[in-house]
Amino acid sequence: MRKRENIILKTIKDKGLKITPQRQLIGEVLDGNKTHPSAEDVHKKVSEIAPTVSIATVYKTLNSLADLGVIQRLDVGDGKTHFDPDITAHSHFVCLNCRKIFDVATSVPLPDLGKDFKVVRAQAVYYGYCKECQDQTEE
Ligand SMILES: [Zn+2]
Ligand SMILES: [Zn+2]
Repeated sequence: MRKRENIILKTIKDKGLKITPQRQLIGEVLDGNKTHPSAEDVHKKVSEIAPTVSIATVYKTLNSLADLGVIQRLDVGDGKTHFDPDITAHSHFVCLNCRKIFDVATSVPLPDLGKDFKVVRAQAVYYGYCKECQDQTEE
């Protein structure tokens, strides 16, 4: 029996927002997802449950949830926008070979940029080779 609370749907409720059918779908597909999927990836998963939902709808819903702070948008420089249901401060590691994006626990200290800029959040993206890809090249 798996009865874990869906964090995305909980956050939507906690923020006093409406759970629309689209949000419900995205919540189901993205909750607990650690792979940092792009909108295309999310759409693929959504299609398995709801084949009539368009990529445009998925895009719009993901971006509005990101704007509302329910999920976070992630740009790692590969030309795609990725989405992360984990909105706590954490950094990412991008493998230059398999292009997978991993969560890393390093926290980036907030710099003091003077009174003109109040820093509230910082996260880093590290690039390199993941364990699996390192093992491949060593053989
Ligand atoms: Zn890799
Ligand atoms: Zn992440």
